[in-house]
Order: sequence, then structure tokens, then C-alpha cells
Amino acid sequence: MNKEELADRYRSILARIDAAAARAGRPSGRVRLVAVTKTVGAEAARALVETGAMDLGENRVQALVAKRVALADLPVRWHMIGHLQTNKVAKVVGAATLIHGVDSMRLAEAINSAAEAAGVVQEIFLEVNVSGEESKYGLTPEGAFAAAVAIKGELPRVALAGLMTMAPISERPEETRPVFRGLKELADSLAAAGLFARSPYELSMGMTRDFEVAVEEGATYVRVGSGLFDGVEPCV
Ligand SMILES: *Cc1c(COP(=O)(O)O)cnc(C)c1O
Repeated sequence: MNKEELADRYRSILARIDAAAARAGRPSGRVRLVAVTKTVGAEAARALVETGAMDLGENRVQALVAKRVALADLPVRWHMIGHLQTNKVAKVVGAATLIHGVDSMRLAEAINSAAEAAGVVQEIFLEVNVSGEESKYGLTPEGAFAAAVAIKGELPRVALAGLMTMAPISERPEETRPVFRGLKELADSLAAAGLFARSPYELSMGMTRDFEVAVEEGATYVRVGSGLFDGVEPCV
């Protein structure tokens, strides 16, 4: 695939995001596309940034750190989107603009310590398993509420920017709508309790298969990988 084709795909996904936002009566420009580069090398990631992408996501610490070095000359906001192990936290804090998959207080505490050592405040999303099925990671909604209270009270170096979820894999995107709606409802209750570090809060939900439904339900970050990079040679 050449750069023109990649640029076309990128623009077409942005257009689909805008159309989904319009259908839901949401302002355009409130949704950021995180281009998930985990299946491609730094050159493909660079090509995408040169077509206008600003937010890139990786699900492995080593790959995020390596691509961040390779693209250091570009103004990229890096997103750690995958499961993060506590022993790798120090490498990600400060390097990632946002850590999307925080699914335990233990991890949040490790991030707080690393952020303190680095002299930064780290923005995170709590990962929630809304449907309570299948998904391997993620807090229960009650667990997320309790974690948000604890973060606000005890972890000054962690800023809770919003919530994230992975919807169960489904052939029909429409089936994921209740999951996205559930995450939004939970976020509204956290916001009402004053538990977010920013207003409005962010919602990281939706992938290639279901990002339009997620945008209709209030996503402010969608994480799209294969829709951009399918067919691009992996060269990590
Ligand atoms: C890979 C990945 C994505 C992107 O998935 P696609 O279906 O390829 O768009 C989104 N979020 C997470 C956490 C991922 O690991």
C-alpha cells in the first residue's frame, strides 16, 4: 500500500467519525482518532503522521518506546492502549500522553510513584468491563467508581481524564451499543461525584469494527488499527 492509499483511508475514517457525530448531534472536532500502529513499523507510522495524524497508539511498552524514539522529530501524542504491567510503568509514564488501560489500584499506585519520580502528572483512563463478560481485563463499574474515589483522594500524580472500554467482539457493531452507553452512564455518575480531573471528561471506546456506534454514544477517543493498516506490511 502506498502513502496515497493510506492517506485516503485516514481521511475516510475521519469522515465517518464526523458523520457519526453529526447523526448524534454532537459537535465535530470533539472526537480524536488514535491510530493504532501496533501491527506496522515506524515508517508506516511516520507516513500516517505526515498525512495529518497526531495521536498514535501502541499496546506494548517496548514498541511504544521504540516508535517514540524513531518519530521523535514529529509532534506525536502517544497513547498506551493495552494492558500494562506494573513493572513496566516507569518506561511509559511521561512518554505516553495518556494511559488508556488502567484496570487496578495497584497499577494506578505504580503510575503515581513513577510520575512522582519523573516530576510529572500522568493522565489516565480507567478501563471498565461494562458487560461483565468475555473481556479479560477491566474493572467492574462499582470497582471503577471506588478506584476513582481512591485516585482523587490518594494519588496526586495521577489525573483521571476519563474511562475506557473494550467491547466484546461481535459481528454486528450494533450489539456493542449498550456497552458504550453503559460506559457513558458510568462516566456521568463519576462526573456528578466530581471524580474526574478534567471537564468535560473523555471516553475511549470504539475500534475499527464499531467506532461509529461508539461515536454516536459519546466517544471522544476511538482507537482504530486494522481499518487503517490492514494490508500494510508489518515491519516492527
Ligand atoms: C489493537 C487494538 C485496537 C485497534 O483494533 P482494530 O480492530 O485493529 O481497530 C484498539 N484498542 C486496543 C486496546 C487494541 O489492542
